[in-house]
Amino acid sequence: MRLQSLTFIISVGLSQGTSLPDSLNVIQQLQYHVKKLCSFKGRGHGTKGAQQTIKYISKTLRRMGYSPQTQSFLVSVHLFTKVEVEVKEGSNWRKWKEGIDFIPAGDCPSIRGTWKVDTIPQTGHAWWVNSTLSEEAVQEIAQKSGVSLLLLPRSKLIASIAPKPGPLPLLYVQERSSFPLEVRLSIKTYTCNTTAWNVYAYLEGESSDSAWVVGAHYDHLGRIGKATFWGANDNASGVAFLLVLADRLKKARCPYGIWFVAFGAEELGLIGSHRWVMTPPCALDRLRGMINFDLLGFGEKGVAVVGAADQPLFWQRIQQARLQINWDPPLLLRPMAPNSDQYPFWLRGVPALFFYLLGGPRYYHDIYDKPHTLTWHAAYPFLTWMEKTLLTP
Ligand SMILES: [Zn+2]
Repeated sequence: MRLQSLTFIISVGLSQGTSLPDSLNVIQQLQYHVKKLCSFKGRGHGTKGAQQTIKYISKTLRRMGYSPQTQSFLVSVHLFTKVEVEVKEGSNWRKWKEGIDFIPAGDCPSIRGTWKVDTIPQTGHAWWVNSTLSEEAVQEIAQKSGVSLLLLPRSKLIASIAPKPGPLPLLYVQERSSFPLEVRLSIKTYTCNTTAWNVYAYLEGESSDSAWVVGAHYDHLGRIGKATFWGANDNASGVAFLLVLADRLKKARCPYGIWFVAFGAEELGLIGSHRWVMTPPCALDRLRGMINFDLLGFGEKGVAVVGAADQPLFWQRIQQARLQINWDPPLLLRPMAPNSDQYPFWLRGVPALFFYLLGGPRYYHDIYDKPHTLTWHAAYPFLTWMEKTLLTP
């Protein structure tokens, strides 16, 4: 039923292609994929959402005429089944809202009890850390002083996931002028050893000598207790781009082959992309380059390119395509960093760049990163640029 409705929307989009501008078709398709990918409740490994995501990507690629394959690997992920926090302010207890008042650290272990809150580290207390010390230094002091629980005020709550529990319970809490007298917690977690997947498909080019890799990670944080991390910009937007590009290029004549790869377990430490370069379906020295999409839902403030600063020749080649389409957005050229799936490729000697679009409300790893917030400001010119790059002999 759902697949039929997708076919309907896309075929309507294409049949109206003569009257609808191409840019509108593209944005409608991107929005459709993002909405669909966000319906899988955060696409966290160890949850049904990851399996639904893989099925969706595979079915979509198959419908376009590809023969998608999967690559499986084992991951360990620390999951939260219950997260309840109450605080005593004055004589009243108040429930704190997850994602708004606090967020547990990805490696926060199971914990249950009530603690007095103090701003200095004390045995058997919760420590409200009013300090500019690094998180590592704070953890060390807390362990030495027998602190039971860490409360770290932050101006922005950013969630993460971890493979296993850490030594000390830690909550990031929304910065406020006063701190509570007591805190009561009930957090239940377990470590799940599960299978994760990469899904990829190959598009034949006119020359079989070399190929591109276009990648985007599909996983996100899933759910932490009752809070869902939808991951619209991170990275349903990148996967949507990958799917739209795969569809359009299937109808074009590509000079080189293209591997379209949706990576798993990026949020757990680039595990899927490390796995792909360890057992690639083609020789890595045949790859012309790798283009990674992550965070493509905005673009009001331009384009960031990670890896451009230290691969000038490769960057110049890709720049040429942008000059040909006459698009001149502000560019932020950054050095290579282990911040997304281009990194394992670069480590193995494959030229690799990570593109993300700047602007928007800067929701990141929080409960606000939802489909309706994406503006797709630079989506169409960016897509055209990437198409031009991949179609240039
Ligand atoms: Zn991401």
